[in-house]
Amino acid sequence: MQPPRTTELPDFIIKSTLGVSITVLLLLIPFTFLSFIQGRYLIGGLMAVIQLLCIANIWVSLKNQYSNSLNLFAIFILIITTGIGLYQLEILASYWPSLAVLALYFVLPQKQAWIVNILYVSITIPIAWHVLDPAIAARFVAVLLGISFFAFSATHEIYKQHYLLKEQSVTDILTGLYNRSLLQSSLENAIHQSDRSKTNMAILMLDIDHFKTINDRFGHDVGDAVLKSTGKFLSKFFRAGDVVFRIGGEEFLALIYNTDKTNATSVAEKLRQEFEQLPLINNHDVTISIGVSDLQPNMDWKQWMKQGDENLYKAKANGRNQVFA
Ligand code: GH3
Ligand code: MG
Ligand code: MG
Repeated sequence: MQPPRTTELPDFIIKSTLGVSITVLLLLIPFTFLSFIQGRYLIGGLMAVIQLLCIANIWVSLKNQYSNSLNLFAIFILIITTGIGLYQLEILASYWPSLAVLALYFVLPQKQAWIVNILYVSITIPIAWHVLDPAIAARFVAVLLGISFFAFSATHEIYKQHYLLKEQSVTDILTGLYNRSLLQSSLENAIHQSDRSKTNMAILMLDIDHFKTINDRFGHDVGDAVLKSTGKFLSKFFRAGDVVFRIGGEEFLALIYNTDKTNATSVAEKLRQEFEQLPLINNHDVTISIGVSDLQPNMDWKQWMKQGDENLYKAKANGRNQVFA
């Protein structure tokens, strides 16, 4: 079901990029001066470039934006700098790669960070092995691999929890469908998509008939079980690209893409019939009324829903267990 939940960049990456950029900028100032004073112009110049990229990154982050290419470029320069540093300064430069590995996990998206980490380690370890005393090189490699692994597992857990929380915040616990929180943005996105690609969109407003009677006669638990089964049924019934929301107690909204009024009405009728056949409560028919609303030009999301609501009301008024378009 749309909309995609776990692919977008987490908001915290802007803040962590800001933190890393400020820290790196401040940490490098004395060493950049020192490099120039001691005549190591290449390393000094590279560090100055990294600091300029940090300033650019701070600027972007403060505007609440994130530039992946800027970060990738900064990390690329960082890799070169630590490599050359190791060659020129040997053990003196061997402290920085651990910090660099940590930093990249906080400025790059998860998968990119893994790839760059592997690349970084594969470039740095041979250099360290070549220039450092073997006893020091062995410890350098152990610390670098250890920090890579810790940074990997810690950020992996942070991402997992982040996406889980995000997912929970948009999901209705009882039915497993979306709750109302993404309703407005999903309808607005569909309207934009329809404008751009000139495709038809429709929504179905669904409401279980006489649900209060079900609660009163069979108990709240049975009512809950009916809602749960309805959720399962609806998520199976619709296509993978369609979105189903639970918008109220026993009210649902299905957003169906590339569907005109005639198609939406026949989908609704098929749904109504299949729903009626579900074995929900022994010796008691559970039915559903449906209002169809096809998107008209210049409609906003509220008008689109209002038309669905009005048609649902008409389906109820006409005797329930029916579709009104
Ligand atoms: P109509 O055919 O006109 O839609 O009648 P109805 O009884 O279905 O509608 P009404 O709005 O009068 O009642 C809806 C009931 O749904 C009232 C409320 O107690 C019940 N309800 C709302 N949320 C839940 C829930 O999460 N679980 C259960 N078991 N009942 C709920
Ligand atoms: Mg109802
Ligand atoms: Mg209702």
